[in-house]
Amino acid sequence: MSCGRMENKFLAYLDGRLKESERLDVEKHLAGCAACQLRVNEFRAVAGLLDELPQIEPSPAFDVRVRARVAAEPVKQGWWAWLTPSPRVAFAASLLLLATVWVASRPSEHPLTPADVAQIDQELPALENFDVVADFGALTDLPQPVQPDDAGDANPDQDQNQNQKQDQDSNQTM
Ligand SMILES: [Zn+2]
Repeated sequence: MSCGRMENKFLAYLDGRLKESERLDVEKHLAGCAACQLRVNEFRAVAGLLDELPQIEPSPAFDVRVRARVAAEPVKQGWWAWLTPSPRVAFAASLLLLATVWVASRPSEHPLTPADVAQIDQELPALENFDVVADFGALTDLPQPVQPDDAGDANPDQDQNQNQKQDQDSNQTM
């Protein structure tokens, strides 16, 4: 018999619960298997420790107190109490059902016509070309932004005068 199957019988063997034939088998195996002897000794040591623990018995008053507390607990409603009809819950459920039916039966305000679908199909290639936008090289070809005059904001009147003077100049050249 293998060690694994032996191990299952060790506890019963130590407790003296094995049949005579099984006990002989175990002892025969133990005689020739050091590993299983070690296991049995470990089990025996643990069982001995457990036996040494003091047995705690509850006091007589403990039982009385527990019963009193159980009796004092309010009677809880069973799980089926959820299903008992409540007017408010029924009313709320009816409203929810009505709203759902109304929303579902409402026709869409902007149904998609075949013409719309065709237009979307035409625009799709343009949307697929958004790589062009992602490539910012095209933006560098743009002319440089006009730099505002430093004194422009500080003295708008002077700026206006300059413009008028420029206009006069251009008039003279013409
Ligand atoms: Zn063994």
